[in-house]
Amino acid sequence: AAHSVTIGRLRSESQTYFPAKTGKPAWCDERFNFQATFLQCLAKHVPNIYSAEMDPLLEKQEEMVQAAILYPLECYLFGEDPDIFLEKLQQSGTSQLCGKVFKGGETTYSCRDCAVDPTCVLCMDCFQNSIHKNHRYKMHSSTGGGFCDCGDTEAWKAGPLCTKHEPGASGSAKENSECQLNEEIMEHSRRVFPSVIKYIVDMLIWEEEKELPPELTTREKVDSYYCVLFNDEHHSYDHVIYSLQRALGCELGEAQLHTTAIDKEGRRAVKAGHYASCQEAKEEIKRHSENVSQRPLHVEVLHADVMAHQKFALRLGSWLNKLMSYSSDFRQIFCQICLKEEAGSEKPCFISKLMLWDAKLHKGARKVLHELIFSSFFMEMEYKKLFAVEFVKYYKALQKEYISDDHDRVLSVTALSVQMFTVPTLARHLIEEQNVITIITETLLEVLPEYLDKNDKFNFQGYSQDKLNRVYAVIYDLRYVLVSKPTLWTDRLRERFLDGFVSFLRILTCMQGMEEIKRQIGQHIEVDPDWEAAIAIQMQLKNILLMFQEWCACDEELLLKAYRECHKAVMRCSTNGRSREKTVFHLCGHTLESRPYRVSADPVSIHLPLSRTLAGLHVRLSKTGTISRLHEFVSPEEFQVELLIEYPLRCLVLVAQVAAEMWRRNGLSLISQVFYYQDVKCREEMYDKDIIMLQIGASLMDPNQFLLLILQRYELADAFKKIKPTKDQDLIKQCNVLIEEMLQILIYVVGERYVPGVSNVTKEDVIMREIIHLLCIEPMAHSAITKSLPENENNETGLENVIDKVATFKKPGVSGHGVYELKDECLKEFNMFFYHYTKTQHSKAEHTQKKRRKQENRDEALPPPPPPDFSPAFSNVVRILNCDVMMHILRTILQRAVELETHLWTEAMIQMVLHLLSLGLLEEKQQLQTSPEEEVTFDFYHKATRMGSSALNAVSVLTLLERLKRVPQLEAQKDTVNWILQMFDTVKRLREKSSLTTVAATSGSEATKGDESTQDKEKAERKRKAEAARLHRQKIMAQMSALQRNFIETHKLLYENTLEAQGKEDAIMEEESMSSTIDCSKIALGPKRGPSVAEKEVLTCILCQEEQEVKLESAAMVLSACVQKSTALTQNRSRILELSGDTLDPLFMHPDLPCGTHTGSCGHVMHAACWQKYFEAMQLNFRQRLHVEQIFDLENGEYLCPLCKSLCNTVIPIVPLQAQKINSEDAEAVAQILSLARWLEIIIVRISGYSVKNAEGEKENLPAFTNKGMGNSALEFHSILSFGVQSSVKYSSSIKEMLILFATTIYRVGLKVAPNEADYRIPMMTWSTCAFTIQCIENLLETEGKPLFGSLQNRQHSGLKALVQFAAAQRTTSPQVLIQKHLVRLLGVLLPNFKAEDTPSLLEVDMFHVLVGVVLSFPSLYWEDAVDLQPSSISSAYNHLYLFHLTTLAHITQIVVSSLPFYSFSFVYCSCFGQDIPGWFVWDCVKKGIMPYLRSAALFFHYLLGVSPPEELLQVSEEGQFKALCSYLSLPTNLFLLFQEYWDTVNPLLQRWCTDPVVLSSLKGKSIAIRYPRKRNSLIELPEDYSCLLNQASQFRCPRSSDDEQKHPVLCLFCGAMLCSQNTCCQELVNGEELGACTSHALQCGAGVCMFLKIRECKVVLIEGKTRGCLYPAPYLDEYGETDPGLKRGNPLHLCRERYRKLHLLWQQHCIIEEIARSQETNQIFFGFNWQLL
Ligand SMILES: [Zn+2]
Ligand SMILES: [Zn+2]
Ligand SMILES: [Zn+2]
Ligand SMILES: [Zn+2]
Ligand SMILES: [Zn+2]
Ligand SMILES: [Zn+2]
Ligand SMILES: [Zn+2]
Repeated sequence: AAHSVTIGRLRSESQTYFPAKTGKPAWCDERFNFQATFLQCLAKHVPNIYSAEMDPLLEKQEEMVQAAILYPLECYLFGEDPDIFLEKLQQSGTSQLCGKVFKGGETTYSCRDCAVDPTCVLCMDCFQNSIHKNHRYKMHSSTGGGFCDCGDTEAWKAGPLCTKHEPGASGSAKENSECQLNEEIMEHSRRVFPSVIKYIVDMLIWEEEKELPPELTTREKVDSYYCVLFNDEHHSYDHVIYSLQRALGCELGEAQLHTTAIDKEGRRAVKAGHYASCQEAKEEIKRHSENVSQRPLHVEVLHADVMAHQKFALRLGSWLNKLMSYSSDFRQIFCQICLKEEAGSEKPCFISKLMLWDAKLHKGARKVLHELIFSSFFMEMEYKKLFAVEFVKYYKALQKEYISDDHDRVLSVTALSVQMFTVPTLARHLIEEQNVITIITETLLEVLPEYLDKNDKFNFQGYSQDKLNRVYAVIYDLRYVLVSKPTLWTDRLRERFLDGFVSFLRILTCMQGMEEIKRQIGQHIEVDPDWEAAIAIQMQLKNILLMFQEWCACDEELLLKAYRECHKAVMRCSTNGRSREKTVFHLCGHTLESRPYRVSADPVSIHLPLSRTLAGLHVRLSKTGTISRLHEFVSPEEFQVELLIEYPLRCLVLVAQVAAEMWRRNGLSLISQVFYYQDVKCREEMYDKDIIMLQIGASLMDPNQFLLLILQRYELADAFKKIKPTKDQDLIKQCNVLIEEMLQILIYVVGERYVPGVSNVTKEDVIMREIIHLLCIEPMAHSAITKSLPENENNETGLENVIDKVATFKKPGVSGHGVYELKDECLKEFNMFFYHYTKTQHSKAEHTQKKRRKQENRDEALPPPPPPDFSPAFSNVVRILNCDVMMHILRTILQRAVELETHLWTEAMIQMVLHLLSLGLLEEKQQLQTSPEEEVTFDFYHKATRMGSSALNAVSVLTLLERLKRVPQLEAQKDTVNWILQMFDTVKRLREKSSLTTVAATSGSEATKGDESTQDKEKAERKRKAEAARLHRQKIMAQMSALQRNFIETHKLLYENTLEAQGKEDAIMEEESMSSTIDCSKIALGPKRGPSVAEKEVLTCILCQEEQEVKLESAAMVLSACVQKSTALTQNRSRILELSGDTLDPLFMHPDLPCGTHTGSCGHVMHAACWQKYFEAMQLNFRQRLHVEQIFDLENGEYLCPLCKSLCNTVIPIVPLQAQKINSEDAEAVAQILSLARWLEIIIVRISGYSVKNAEGEKENLPAFTNKGMGNSALEFHSILSFGVQSSVKYSSSIKEMLILFATTIYRVGLKVAPNEADYRIPMMTWSTCAFTIQCIENLLETEGKPLFGSLQNRQHSGLKALVQFAAAQRTTSPQVLIQKHLVRLLGVLLPNFKAEDTPSLLEVDMFHVLVGVVLSFPSLYWEDAVDLQPSSISSAYNHLYLFHLTTLAHITQIVVSSLPFYSFSFVYCSCFGQDIPGWFVWDCVKKGIMPYLRSAALFFHYLLGVSPPEELLQVSEEGQFKALCSYLSLPTNLFLLFQEYWDTVNPLLQRWCTDPVVLSSLKGKSIAIRYPRKRNSLIELPEDYSCLLNQASQFRCPRSSDDEQKHPVLCLFCGAMLCSQNTCCQELVNGEELGACTSHALQCGAGVCMFLKIRECKVVLIEGKTRGCLYPAPYLDEYGETDPGLKRGNPLHLCRERYRKLHLLWQQHCIIEEIARSQETNQIFFGFNWQLL
């Protein structure tokens, strides 16, 4: 109440306070001091305007601000009416920069062809109007705070401007003369802006809670305060609500309101009052919040006037922000003032003050400030630069503030760095002038010390994830600065860059050797150490390390200097362990002196960024050739290569020992680290560089020494000295794994040369090789390949440039994704020991390739492909292949294999030895082919054929190899061994060719010949076997296809159906019945009706597996079924559906078919008893596990089909069809007397008879009707029985029970009411679901273009059969009087005699529903008190015929009335219903319009009577179909003949139908009736290009709220409505429950079931009811045939019609619920999701 008083006072005062709009307040007078008068004005107005803080009237506030302050201010500033002036300014063109600031969730676009780096983005508008639309673009969702780069020439290699921002384009004719402001306005601006800016700055950084600056304190100070609560990221929503409720004793709703506002704005007054009471509230809130979350909320007590001025300061900020967009002059003046430093003062300028205060501001204030910076500084290149300089000046302070702040990064001023640092010229300027690299690295060094240990190495144990994430922001800045390499180097740039690099090396020094670990022996470690932080930093640094190396490589001098610095740093870190005495190690005559170190016993670290940077610089030295000058910078004595390779070698040994399970007790953390060490995310700057370092070692060290060092570090020295007599199996195994790992590393050192600098390959070659090896494993999707390739600083892998050279694309089908398959010619590049293969990938690839070779009937040898030559700097590496120690290693292993010392070797080891041998031979061959023999010193052949020196292995490698062929365990390697033997021979011959040793040559060639001939034999044998196998396969295929053809022929009808195991009997049964009736009449209605053969149906219960014949008298068998409401056929989506059917009368279906009840089945049969047992057991089961959330709702009878797990909610009893045959003589006799007129008379008499009878008992049981002119006194009540009756069918009690159960389910689900077995609407619902389901199936068959009969899926067929038979039998479980009552009401539509008051007119009913109803209820007229009777076959035949003819006549009338205008109708009425032949137009309308009805009727009568349909209906043909339908349904092909035939009867009916007021109004064109045929529903049209949808979404405005918060627009695929999902603004209260926009829309649009497209996420959502839903892939694919849920990859997406069609069918087949249930079962994570609020 207090607030309203205040406002009232203000209102009355406002008249005197505020001058009329045109008047100028005194402070605008130029004679006055602007500053002083301006402040006086504010002091006077602001506290009043913003006095009602707790409950403000925002519009009123705004009005007052405009009138009292802003309008006069603008008048003064512009010197004329602001509206007119700004209008002029607007038209005169704006900046060439777009500068749009992105909100969270907005789509941004980047061009992969033209963007300088991936941070360059365009807004939707600019993108659509740019050339990049046709380039390789990416789309992403903004996290907020970004800025459109359109117009920034430095951001784009091409097309920097869109057509909208291009000068001279779109209305801005005066391009360059961008409306210069006149001098007067400029002068005013210079006067106004400083005061405005100063006021804003002063108020925002104002710290006094109680006082204002003296200039603003005018009135008496009142004791009016606010208790203000601030937002933080520590407390959750619920915490705040709880604390507020407790502390202030307020309602939940109010607390929620406060909390939402706090979250959005950053602060909010939660209490107003005197100082003391506010202070008290503050303490209370702090206390309560501390209780729930250990930390108090930030609360302040502010004086009302302080609060008011701070509010107004922000309002002024947004006023300036808007002003900035009008003119460059405004921006420049504004920037100048913001940057102006007070002369002689050390104080920062205005803008820096605000930046420094940023972290102290609340959210709302920060937003205004940042937007102001965007709209001013960032729109003027020159001032952006000046701003950047200021920013860098305070960089350290700002980052430190940010790191201790707890707001998101987008809300920090530090997030602006990306806008400046990524601009190449700006970055260069900042490096040169501000030394920004050094500043950033120093900032890092200053914020990280808390993680330094006593050795000055980082250690992140117990780190805070959030804090480190904030540190990453600094690392990112480094990345931004380095992202574009300079093209022009100045001395100053070189100097500053090197400074930065050296500073950066200091960070790396703290990482080199950090987080050392020691092998755990005996006990397992207790706690896994934190390893993630170190690895995460490594990942963050990866690209920065690469960029530093690239920058260094730009310039020879720089590279050498950087190398020297880096080398020094490595050396400084390599001192430890030097205290130990050197030991000596001898092997085969070579000696190694080294300091002892054991990875298994001493500490080791996998973090060696310094060593790896050095390796990176080394290959760049090699690549540029600068390496020749290295000695000038690092002297050979200093170089110490052994020391350089020491640490990387230890790391590789660690990996080997982990593989050998020696570090098991160190827990999972080590395994994870080793994983990342080799993973694509890290390996470039970890594993790969360690291999390079070993290659550097191998190229610079003596090969024997190098190998001895390797042996020693792998702790394998003894293993190659003597055979240890150990029996410890674990140790032996360990040793074997270590040997394998070492051999593998040796293979890599010699063989892996695909690094520019190591050999002469290009980056493209490297990527191609990676892709080839990935595809050698299996064909892969584009995204999978991308994920397996390292990304560069621009997030590019280079994949697109090369993929087509090595692979072919295979398109996807309706599901799955497209894949790339390797081209055959690339297979020869396959290297089994590719160093980026994981163990699994290695064996998978080997398996795939061997299998492929086998299929091609080739040998299985997979020798290495010839590697490219080493660069000169690395050429010495190959010497390790033919050195003594290597020979010793090879011989030792081969010998062990040959001597069958099984425990000392493994097959993998032999494979590696063979690989090394192949490498050696390939090397020698290559050298011999390129240089003269005498110059080739590489003597692998010689060494391998020579005997060993020691007695232990005196035999030569070649001899051992020959013997290896006889080792049975190595059968699989035989082909490889043969290949190597051949290579030996080749090399031998190359050697001999030049040395001309004829003797050797001849003997050699003979030997080869012998060898060749055995090889040929093997080849021939292999070929013969393969041929035999092929012939065998062919034969089988031929047999199979013959069988198949037979099958198709015998089962023609059912071909294409899905024959499930259970359905087979059905199928065969159906087949039999078809063939036996083949000669019979194919007419379903009337006296000529064909026979329906009672088929003996034997079904197997899926639960007990027992067979049973379906009989009337035996226990019931049931079919699992699902009943659901459906709007699949609706013609009018705007119709409001009744959500509850309590008062609904479902007897008549509206012709719009707004909502029906669909019954579907998965076609699985059970005994009723078995099903009941199953269902009860399940209920029990779930009751016992209450905590488990259920996929299905047992309360509502839901269960999963025990066989196929479809969601079901009931069962259909299977009622056998009663065979009926007509005696043709009887039929003839009846035909003589039973005309339509007479039949009508008889039933009228019968019905009136009942009504008389019943009237005696209860009154008005049947609606009264008149018997005008149709009565026949000769007929009496029992006449109906005289045309044939029979006793009623008796069902077993079990079938009856099931009939009731199913009927009740239909009633309950269809009407959404509580079950009630006795409700009068149960029969109505039965007929309704029967009619509706048939209409759905008819519709589906038509849209799928399938024939009416014979093409239904088995489940649809058996479901429909059971449903129709059930609907016929259901009548017997209801009181016949009730059925009669319904029948009479139905007949009322056709026969106006019966017309009751609530009978709808002809245009208000769906005629097919009427048909089904009358046919199924008609037998109730045969009911007699004493005996249960039903019509005989002949009676039924006539009943069906006449009922059908009547409804058909009525339907034709419907069609004609609704499709023709009035005047033509009268013509039609006279002509066609009279004697004349109708015009073609009418005929066409009728024929088209009646088709769905006839087709539905044919389906209905077929499943009701079992009469086989004519052949034509088994095919798709327009004309044939119509004739066949007419014949099957006993209609004349010329439908108008019906009218002619029954003219006397029809004429009065027609007149009455057409005089109904509703019909008349339609005839007069006053109302629109539904047209026939009704439209077939389909999902809405979707655009071909996904960005069109994104475009639409960006224009989406929530209908309920006006704020600019992030929205989740969601598109309804049924109706095209765009909804605001997952947001409180659009929640709706339905039956006392809060429902989200989607859920409540679904209730109306899809009767609870609906399909949506989440546009921003590119995902389809299926939902059902309030509790269930699932995600489904959207029908949009990128060019690689992949979907992109969440738009993570961001490739352009296009509509896939086939997939969209699949979604359409999912809907029309009513399988959405099923899909949801299935996905929920497999995807349990969605249980947590609250679908209700979607
Ligand atoms: Zn833009
Ligand atoms: Zn633009
Ligand atoms: Zn482009
Ligand atoms: Zn059973
Ligand atoms: Zn099933
Ligand atoms: Zn909809
Ligand atoms: Zn909304």
